[in-house]
Amino acid sequence: MNNQQEAFDVIVIGAGPSGAVVSSLLKQQGLSVLVVEKTHFPRFSIGESLLPQSMTYLEAANLLQPVVEAGFQYKNGAVFRRASQYTQFDFREKFSTGWGTTYQVKRAAFDKVLADATEQQGVQIKYGYTVTAVNFLNETVEVCCVDEQGNSYHFYGQFLADASGFGRVLPRLLDLETPSCFPVRQSFFTHIKDNISCENFDRNKILITIHPERQDVWYWLIPFSDGTASIGVVVPPELVNKDEDNTRQLQRLIGEASELAQLTDSAEFINPAQKIAGYSANVSKLWGDRFVLLGNAAEFLDPVFSSGVTIALKSAHLAAGLITKQVMGEVVDWQACYHQPLMKGIDTFRCFVEAWYDGSLQNILFFDQKEPGVERMVCSILAGYAWDEANPYVADCGRRLNVLKELCS
Ligand code: FAD
Repeated sequence: MNNQQEAFDVIVIGAGPSGAVVSSLLKQQGLSVLVVEKTHFPRFSIGESLLPQSMTYLEAANLLQPVVEAGFQYKNGAVFRRASQYTQFDFREKFSTGWGTTYQVKRAAFDKVLADATEQQGVQIKYGYTVTAVNFLNETVEVCCVDEQGNSYHFYGQFLADASGFGRVLPRLLDLETPSCFPVRQSFFTHIKDNISCENFDRNKILITIHPERQDVWYWLIPFSDGTASIGVVVPPELVNKDEDNTRQLQRLIGEASELAQLTDSAEFINPAQKIAGYSANVSKLWGDRFVLLGNAAEFLDPVFSSGVTIALKSAHLAAGLITKQVMGEVVDWQACYHQPLMKGIDTFRCFVEAWYDGSLQNILFFDQKEPGVERMVCSILAGYAWDEANPYVADCGRRLNVLKELCS
């Protein structure tokens, strides 16, 4: 059994989007950074439709250029369908200033592009290393890992950033997990060769379809640039048939939404469908003495507005500046400078997610006499600009949405 030891300014757990962005930004500030990643890239991950706001953080981390060059599917908005109702939002017409377009990405390729570009910036990534324990010592944090041969390693950092996503390493090890405010939901999904010939189908937008009878059941269709697409459904547990395998469940549920079924009637499943259940998660705190939680390792709300990667990158961007200050010896007020600003946007998305599942936001989105100014503000949130307090739907989301619900009911 090996017992190697190495020391760094910062150790990052996980090389997904939040791990890549935080470590690139820290390296740019001259810090030594080690990323420990359990798997080997490319590896599958769910979360394939980005929001334009995420481009800001990729750009800041010098990771945008390789993403642009990778040839991912261009994305400029979202389409919503409910039986015969149809509405679309073009993110370029949003209220907030900033990027109005982004990409739909296979995460295996996207995450590898980010991780490789991060390594090229001088960050060391150790693949195949699983973090099993952390110890907060007097001056440093000890991170204990095992590799795939069972060898153990101890790395030392002044600061630890947990970007382990659904691995939720620190929430589990430090007993920080708390129940999510959302009920348990499940999702079945796969990649298809979509064979969509419909001329009106816009590959530049994510298509969200609502079940004709259940407002809490919805489907995504995310086209990629190579003629394939990601398709999935979100359902409450009572609609899951335990006698069916994942592929059969997904096919049956797609069949219940006739417009989506018709659109994808020539599609071929590339892989058997997968299932993920109970993904919404929360924590009692986002930071502590010499550690911070990023992205999904902190809070995950719901997939409906494709906000996961954007929140992950926002958290990485916010945290990088504060980690740098702390490692340089400054005192950092993490509650005021990290928790509060990050939660502003998460709470905006939370308001939208709640209103989605109670049906009121669906009525707002399909309302056919939308006031153009309000539509642009709602569009901004759908584009990920959930931290722009110049937008009244960010500054006072709950009250504003309630007024709009009444108007559109
Ligand atoms: P991840 O991308 O999960 O990366 C974490 C990394 O940490 C992984 O590579 C993992 O291997 C590694 N790791 C884990 N444990 C350990 C360990 N012990 N030691 C070392 N390494 C470890 N988001 C969107 O933006 N758009 C979408 O369309 C979207 N759709 C979604 C659909 C569903 C059904 C779900 C459940 C989520 C969806 N999301 C979506 C959310 C998205 O998947 C996540 O928010 C995003 O991947 C979070 O990025 P991250 O960097 O925090 O973590």
